[in-house]
Amino acid sequence: MFCPECKSMMFPMEGVLTCKRCGYSGKSKSKASTKIVTKMHEEKEMMVITEDTATLPKTKAECPKCGHNEAFFVLRQTRASDEPETRIYRCVKCSASWREY
Ligand SMILES: [Zn+2]
Ligand SMILES: [Zn+2]
Repeated sequence: MFCPECKSMMFPMEGVLTCKRCGYSGKSKSKASTKIVTKMHEEKEMMVITEDTATLPKTKAECPKCGHNEAFFVLRQTRASDEPETRIYRCVKCSASWREY
């Protein structure tokens, strides 16, 4: 059995054929974890406020990082359009970002 990724010999590890060179394994589980990583990445992208903060509205919100009580905010529509918009905050003082749950 050879690795479909890098064509190296694969060895069974914990009952699953695994490539020692690139870490590829035939486990279907590895595919699922890749998906989760992608989703987390998307969420992270969504969190980033790219707008110029000078144009953003401010609101009273407590920063979880420094405790400052004023933050900029933007509304983000998640990929699933049936979900409500998420409000992303950015602390005026320390620029920390967080989202409203
Ligand atoms: Zn490989
Ligand atoms: Zn802060």
